[in-house]
Amino acid sequence: VTPLHMRKALGRFASGVTIVTTAESEDEASVHGMTANAFTSVSLDPPLVLVSIANRAKMNERIREAGRYGVSILAGDQEPLSLHFAGAANQPDLVRFVWRKGVPLLEGALVHLACTVVDSHPAGDHTLHVGRVERLWYDDGHPLVFYTGTFRSLELQGRDEPWG
Ligand code: FAD
Ligand code: NAD
Repeated sequence: VTPLHMRKALGRFASGVTIVTTAESEDEASVHGMTANAFTSVSLDPPLVLVSIANRAKMNERIREAGRYGVSILAGDQEPLSLHFAGAANQPDLVRFVWRKGVPLLEGALVHLACTVVDSHPAGDHTLHVGRVERLWYDDGHPLVFYTGTFRSLELQGRDEPWG
C-alpha cells in the first residue's frame, strides 16, 4: 500500500472540514490555526473528539503546549479560510476569531467546540489528540465538504434545517 493509493482511497471518504485552533493565552498574537479533516467524534459520555495532526505540523507542538484546542466545523462558503489555514492561499483579511471558554474559534463556522486535551497518542507520522468537549455551540447551515481532494458545498435539498 503506497501513500498515493492511501490518498486515492481515503479521499473517497467524504468529510467535513475543520479549522483546529489553539493559543497559549487569550492574546490574539499567540493563536495558531490549521485546516484538518481528520476529525472524529469519539464518545458521548464523556464527550470526546479527536484530531489527527501530522508530526511535522507546527500545530502538534502548539496543542501540546496549550493543552487545549478549538474545532470550528466550516460552513459551505468558508473554502477560502480552509485554503488559508492549509497554507495554500494567504488570505489573512478573512480571518476573524471569536473567543469562547478561553479558546479561539473561527467566526461564521457551523459548530464551535472548546476542548481540553485528555490524551495524545503517537500514530505513525501523526499524533491523535483526544479532547474532552468542555462547551459547544452550533448553528444551522450548509457544511463545507472535502471529497477526492476537492471542496464542495452540501445543499440540504428541500430542508431548511439539517433535521427539519
Ligand atoms: P502553518 O502551515 O504555518 O499554518 C497554516 C496556515 O495558517 C498558514 O498559512 C498560517 O499563516 C495560517 N495561520 C496560522 N495561525 C494563524 C493566525 N493566528 N492568524 C491567521 N493565520 C494563521 N493536516 C493534518 O495534520 N491533519 C489533517 O487532518 C489535515 N487535514 C487537511 C484537510 C484539508 C482539506 C487540507 C487542505 C489540508 C489538511 N491538512 C491536514 C494539512 C494542513 O492543513 C497543512 O499541512 C497545514 O499547513 C499545517 O499547518 P501548520 O500547523 O504546520 O502551520
Ligand atoms: P489528498 O488527495 O492528499 O487527500 C485525500 C485524503 O487522503 C485525505 O482526505 C486524507 O484522508 C488522506 N491524506 C492526505 N494526505 C494525508 C497525510 N499527509 N496523512 C494522512 N492522510 C492523508 O488531498 P489534497 O488536496 O492533495 O491535500 C492537500 C494537502 O493537505 C496535502 O499536502 C495533504 O497531504 C494534506 N492533507 C493532510 C491530511 C492529514 O494529514 N490527515 C488530510 C487531508 C489533506
